[in-house]
Order: sequence, then structure tokens, then C-alpha cells
Amino acid sequence: MKTYAIKSSANRTAKKIGGKAVVQKLPDNTWAVFKNREEKDLYELYGVTNCPHCAVGLDNGVVSDADLKADNQPGLKAFLYSCLGCGAEFGPALTKLDKKGPTGTHQINHNSTAANPCNTVWEIAEKLKGQKRKEVIGACVEAGVAYNTARTQYQKWFQASKNDSKNG
Ligand SMILES: [Zn+2]
Repeated sequence: MKTYAIKSSANRTAKKIGGKAVVQKLPDNTWAVFKNREEKDLYELYGVTNCPHCAVGLDNGVVSDADLKADNQPGLKAFLYSCLGCGAEFGPALTKLDKKGPTGTHQINHNSTAANPCNTVWEIAEKLKGQKRKEVIGACVEAGVAYNTARTQYQKWFQASKNDSKNG
């Protein structure tokens, strides 16, 4: 999806894409060009067409809070949706449910006790943006994420956030 300030620019892009492109005015008075109807549907559902973390197209799969509730999985999400590609959450914020952290342990964890360690790492990394890697990983371990998981996920997050700043 691309957005334009002027309708004629949007139409030009749509023409280039061909018959399947959809042009639509957005609430902020810009014009969006979607590659096809599916992409437009994704945008209407989720407000984005790609995962804000790993950039995979959301047609890859999205889990919503409602799905988790239907499956009787604990609702530990901070945001309504999570990407099936990377597990990161996005979309409207949910009221935080009872997120119990481990109590008072500071030693290195080799098993994650956090319900969704990957998401936890991304959340913490996002919150502690600008802090040293050591600090972020330490905070993740304190939140119940296994040390190795914290390291791997932090690396993934770091890569993704680097790409973000390059693109934006
Ligand atoms: Zn993702």
C-alpha cells in the first residue's frame, strides 16, 4: 500500500499496478493505493497491511485477541493483534490483563517463565529503546524470559528497528 496527498498521483500508481489496484480516500484525506482488494481488506481490518515489526504481509496470518479467547489461551497480549510471522503484537492497545512477573529472582533464567517470551522481549526492547543491549536483555530476563531467547529476540528486534529507521 502506498499513500498520496493528491488523487491524480494515486491514480497514476494504480494504473501502473494494473486492473487489480484499488484507490481509496483515507480518513486523513490522503489517497491510498492498494495492490488488490485483499490488501485493502487487510488495511481495513488491522489499520496496516504489513507487520510493523517484521514487515511481512499480514496475509501471512494474524492472531487476534478474540482468537486466543476462543481457544481459551490466556490473554496476555498488550495489543489486539499479533503477527504469525514474528509473534510481535500491534494494533489497538488492550487493557493489560493480569501479567504476573516472576517474583524477586535476579539470576539468569534458562527457561522462560514469561507466557510469551518473544513478545515480551519485543515489548521491553521497544520500551527501552535507546538503552544498552545489556540493559534490555537484563530487563527481559527479569521479566521471566530465558537468557538465550532474550538474546535472539533482541537481535531480531534490533535488526527490525534498524530497518524501520532506514525506511522511515
Ligand atoms: Zn511480524
